[in-house]
Amino acid sequence: MQVFWHRRDLRIPDNKGLSIASRDGTVVPVFVVDSEILADVGRRQRAFFLDCVRELKRRYRSLGSDLIVRSGDPSEVLPTVAEGVGADRVVWNDHYRRERRERADDVRDALTAADIDYDSRTDLVLVSPERLDSRYPTHGSFHSDWEQQAKPSPFDPETDAFAPLDDETSVPSVGADIDLPEAGYEAARERFDDFLDQGIYTYNDNRDNMPAAVENPATSVSRMSPYLSAGAIGVRELWADASDTYDAVHGNERRNVDKYRYELSWREHMYHLLYYLPDLDRTNYKSIPNEIEWRTGPEAKADFEAWTAGETGYPFVDAGMRQLEQEGYIHNRPRQLVASLLTKHLLIDWRLGADYFRRKLVDHDPASNYGSWQWIASTGTDSVDVRIFDPVSQMGKYDDSGDYVTKYVPELDGVSPRKIIDWPTLSHGEREELAPDYVHPIVDRNHGWDRAERVFEEALGKR
Ligand SMILES: Cc1cc2nc3c(=O)[nH]c(=O)nc-3n(C[C@H](O)[C@H](O)[C@H](O)COP(=O)(O)OP(=O)(O)OC[C@H]3O[C@@H](n4cnc5c(N)ncnc54)[C@H](O)[C@@H]3O)c2cc1C
Repeated sequence: MQVFWHRRDLRIPDNKGLSIASRDGTVVPVFVVDSEILADVGRRQRAFFLDCVRELKRRYRSLGSDLIVRSGDPSEVLPTVAEGVGADRVVWNDHYRRERRERADDVRDALTAADIDYDSRTDLVLVSPERLDSRYPTHGSFHSDWEQQAKPSPFDPETDAFAPLDDETSVPSVGADIDLPEAGYEAARERFDDFLDQGIYTYNDNRDNMPAAVENPATSVSRMSPYLSAGAIGVRELWADASDTYDAVHGNERRNVDKYRYELSWREHMYHLLYYLPDLDRTNYKSIPNEIEWRTGPEAKADFEAWTAGETGYPFVDAGMRQLEQEGYIHNRPRQLVASLLTKHLLIDWRLGADYFRRKLVDHDPASNYGSWQWIASTGTDSVDVRIFDPVSQMGKYDDSGDYVTKYVPELDGVSPRKIIDWPTLSHGEREELAPDYVHPIVDRNHGWDRAERVFEEALGKR
């Protein structure tokens, strides 16, 4: 008899640890409501996460088994459950977030003390970071090594190994202030099937097309991130399906499908960073000789608040921040731009922005969030000296009809797209005339750019 400890892997299909346990005998699945770990998860994501646990429980019950749900410290709960059911081994999947690693270490110690065997597996990524070098200067160099590595097929557990169980304990509920995506593996699978039917063949052409994102939010890009973050679907399953599609198509379609697979390699790279730098959420990945003179004090605080409220006077940025507030998600293009405006034009520490994202995103991921913030902030991997996105030209390039911006910034309804694009550079008087209810830019576009360039070059010792 074995216990399988579900953590951030809230699914049965394509679950490596569960699959290995199921091949070796009867399995008792357990989820531990660990309030300390959950306290670090934003409320919306916590609600989604617990909905996924509920769905998982429902799924086990439909298979004649059950998910045992207990609250407390896993290093106390798991040995107790294991002893209670007569299990001689506890199995789980590894996670690279620092607190989760520490939890797993505590669980190992407690199981050893109780004379119970354990086993843990790499399930999060297609290629275990241990099989790669510990550091790559660019995503390109990471990708070329990563690409050479074999990608495992999905691991499917033997469902008849699940112990017949009936656990009356219910999964706690947390209310969210927004509508959440439908939880669980089946919802994830359905969403991915729609994307495979309708989106993947044009993914590369559409992934930065903001009007397409407004029209078809879940097929112009996959919107799989909440499910991947909760482990409601496995990355091997996505990779296998995308690769089958890749093999079946040619020419332009193949290029589009390949881009989707390439994007998954970014996620792999971010986990590679977290694996080798567990402090990715607080420590600059790149060593920078001098301190970066981030702005602090009341003015910076007011700017940060304007940024969170979507009131910077940069329409594309404000639309992104309001999408975050309303949906717990931001499309990747504005996600990059809002992070750039905060860390460059406003010169505010990336950690503050990343922490705000942690609290608001339903798809917050401890690797992709901090790794991407650092990439944008020029403190992470792949850093050019000073990476700055121009908020005006970004809108001109990716939302020239203004469809995305006006969806989230209704104050600009009726203003021509050209004027919305140029908003930060128009005169005060013209802005007042065009849209008196919308804010003026909180930082001058050129001043913000020059200041960021200077501060970063000083930090790098280049001035
Ligand atoms: C500042 C910043 C913060 C971010 N925070 C997160 C986060 O907390 N959680 C998260 O999942 N992603 C994060 N990303 C990456 C990316 O924006 C999202 O993965 C993507 O927008 C999710 O939408 P999608 O599933 O439709 O992506 P798609 O375009 O359909 O991409 C497919 C999958 O590839 C992966 N992916 C794509 N781009 C990236 C990337 N740049 N880095 C890592 N993985 C990527 C994701 O798993 C995604 O689901 C962040 C990016 C930035 C710039």
